[in-house]
This record gives sequence, C-alpha cells and structure tokens, in this order.
Amino acid sequence: MTWQAHNRVAVGLIWQETNSFNPLATETSDFITHEGDAVLSAYEATATALGGIIRRLRALGAVPIPTFAAKARPGGPIRDAVVEDLIARLIDRVKSEEIDAICLELHGGMASETVADVEGLLLSRLRKAIGRSVPISVALDLHGHITDRMVANVNFLTGYRTHPHSDMVETGERATEMLMNIVQRRVKLVSARRSVPFLALWRDETAEPPMRDVYQTLVTEAARHQHYIDASIFNTHPFLDAPGLGQVVVSYFDDDTPAAVSLTNAIADKLWSIRKEFVGEAPGLDEVFARADKAAREGSQPVAIGDQGDSVLAGTPGDSVEIARYAAKYYPALRGLIPVFDPQAVATARAAGIGTTVTLHLGASITPELVPLELTAIVVALTDGIFPNEGSYMKGVLNDMGATAILQAGAQTFIVTSRAPSACDPGLARHTGKALTNFQYIVVKSSNHFRLSLSPACDCIVAATPGLSSRKPDYLRHQKARPIFPVDEL
Ligand SMILES: [Zn+2]
Repeated sequence: MTWQAHNRVAVGLIWQETNSFNPLATETSDFITHEGDAVLSAYEATATALGGIIRRLRALGAVPIPTFAAKARPGGPIRDAVVEDLIARLIDRVKSEEIDAICLELHGGMASETVADVEGLLLSRLRKAIGRSVPISVALDLHGHITDRMVANVNFLTGYRTHPHSDMVETGERATEMLMNIVQRRVKLVSARRSVPFLALWRDETAEPPMRDVYQTLVTEAARHQHYIDASIFNTHPFLDAPGLGQVVVSYFDDDTPAAVSLTNAIADKLWSIRKEFVGEAPGLDEVFARADKAAREGSQPVAIGDQGDSVLAGTPGDSVEIARYAAKYYPALRGLIPVFDPQAVATARAAGIGTTVTLHLGASITPELVPLELTAIVVALTDGIFPNEGSYMKGVLNDMGATAILQAGAQTFIVTSRAPSACDPGLARHTGKALTNFQYIVVKSSNHFRLSLSPACDCIVAATPGLSSRKPDYLRHQKARPIFPVDEL
C-alpha cells in the first residue's frame, strides 16, 4: 500500500490523566464523548494533538475518518467498567470503517481501578482487532506512563516536548507525518524504551534547567546517529501509583537497533544522574501573598497563584480552601478570585437564591486532612459552569465545571463548582461577570499550565500547598511504584 489521496485514516482520542490518590473515581459522566462526524466538529479547530492530526491529514491529501473521542479532566482512577466501555466503543467504530491506518491522541497516564496502563490495554486490544498490517501512530502527553505494552502494540508513538504543553498541535502533526512515512514504507522503524525509577516533583518545566539540558543532550546524541528518527522523554506525572513507574525514554531509529538502545541509554543515564534536581519546594503562602500585596499597592497586574497541592490538572478534587483561608486571615482587603469544588455548597446556594446570604462550610469534602472554611457569603450568581478556554492552553476547548455558584465574602469572590474546577484561564474571571483586572489575585487549580493562558496578563507564581498533588516528599503516598526515588533512597 502506498500513500494516496484517498488514504483513509481512522482518528480518535481517549484522554484522562489519573491521580491514583484521589478517592473520587472517574465515572462515565466525567467523560465528554463524541462519535463519528461529531469528533471532527469538536476537535478539528482546537489547539490539541487531535486537531493537529486532523488538519495535517487533510493537508497531506488523506481522509480523516472520525471514530470516537472521550475526554475527561484529570482525576481519580477510572472505573473498570467505564474503561471497558470506552475501549469497546473506539474499537467497534474503527472496525466498522474501511481504513488504511490509525492515528490517535491518548494521554498515556490513564489508570483504572485495576489496570495501571489503560492505554496499554487499549492498544493491545486494538492491535488484536485490526491485525499487524494496519499501522498505528499515537500522539501522547509528556506526563504519560509509557509501558512496553504500549510501545509493542503501535508502529510509532511520540510525546509533547514542552511542559507547560505548548506543542500539542505539533505532536499530533509529527504522529501523522510519521504514519505517512510508515504507510509509504519510507522507514523501517525500530524502537528502544527505558524507564528510570524516580519522580519529577519540581523543576520539571522543559524551558528551564535541568530538563533544558536533557533536551540539549538529546540534540547532541541525535546528531551522532545517522538513522535517528524521533525520541520522546516522558516526565511521567508523579501522582500515578503504578508498578514500574518512572521517567521514560522512547526512541525510534530507521533500522538501527543498536543506535536506538545507545541513544535511549544515554538520555536515561543523564536523567538518573540529575534525579536530585527534581526534588524541591515552591515558595510558601507568606512569600506569595507578600508579592500579591506589593503588586496591589503598586497597582500592577494581578497575581495568578497556582495551588500546587490541589492541582485539578494533576487529578485532584479541587476542594482545597487553604489559600482562601490564608488570604482572608492575613490579607482580607485583597480582591481575590478562588475556585472551589463543593457540590453541596452549590446546592445550598441554589436553594437560597441570588441575592441571599448563606452561611456554610466550604470545601475540603474529598481531600483527606484538609479542613472546610467557615464562610458567610452573598450568592451573586448561579451558572451552568460551561465556558470555552480563551487563553493559549487548550484554546477553544470547553470547560464544564457543572452547576456553579458565584459567592462573595468580603473581598473574596468564590467560584463554587459541582465538577472539579479544571479551568486555569482568563475565562474563569469572565465567568464571574468581572474582568480579570478587577482581581488582585486569582487562584488556579494548576501548578504549571496556567502560565500559558494567564501570562502576561498576570504575574504567575506557584505556591506550595497541602493536598493530593503536593510535591513535598513527605506527602507522597506511593506503594505500587516503589522502590522509587525520592520516596526511597536508591
Ligand atoms: Zn501533561
């Protein structure tokens, strides 16, 4: 088979990032699903890997055949029955179409109640269903837990190169272009994979040292080898508890296995040698609010505070009120915007109605060891919690925070949600009916990606806070992943 204008390529997506420590399981209702042509209308125009795949296929003259897409925000382990259903729906759609190849966007870090690599299960079933002759190419998140089972069941996989992720589209394009090379038999791909048993808890952004230096090593190593094709470095996200967890390197070469092994080992050895650089702490709330207070007195831009310990984008519930409690106590005059997951409080606000005053215990309903905030507030607005991202991170993708209540308590505006508040976007402020500039600080349940969408409108800073995505080594609860550094001294 050769690449031709009529080549039909099945496209699809299953996406969630699992935080093994979140006690709230991910259910069917947490997934937004699309089938058939609805996949194209939902994703073609978005700044995602799937958007990149679809647009690149069209540019190359191929026909994207939409199959199935299911996306949930990061969260707790997915119910086993939900995983079975999602995989079956994707495979049924793929099998019902006449196709020449498959290109998928997957996260790589999905776990169910009993399966530590859901993508490995999915890809092994897909391979079995379609046979060896149909090439499969996959675009993945940099935080994936990439197992041998995944590598063995695809022809090619490639991950984002940036964190925060600003190259989702390019990753989808790369997966698509390599698929074209495979279909045209221009390459005879061989791969090498190695996992390095440590957690990247800190300083894991790719534009800064030490990861910037690791990518420099990759450039140097790649230049030494004539048959180099591609290499991905997966900084597997640290809140997955899975056997064999670690930082993963996967490289592809054109028919040169010894070179693939050599390059993969060089990058893996480099990562291991600098593992201690990935342990550290963000500034505490004293330092963060001193900065917010100074900015407010000088009339400069608001401070966006990443709630590192309760980062919904790292799969936590989003129910921490620790930043709000600190601010109310020490900086009560600062105008702040604070998202909190609390369906019970939303129900109370809805029952009370707009304009009424409610007294309630807010937040901390899921995360163990956190304490609710005692709050008297005015119900300012009640919304459906749905709005599109305006900033560059996942621009155009809809946020669905469920039934939402906007509460005002003194200078603090609470955006109380009945789904985990994953938005880290200027749209969050707009959703309260106020401009971003009305606030002097904005709390976001994110520890990295908010920079992409809130800078330069805000001064972005991450705060060390407690919770299920805290980076403090003594908060880590891993069991299945052990031994792993720095939980264990290796
Ligand atoms: Zn990621």
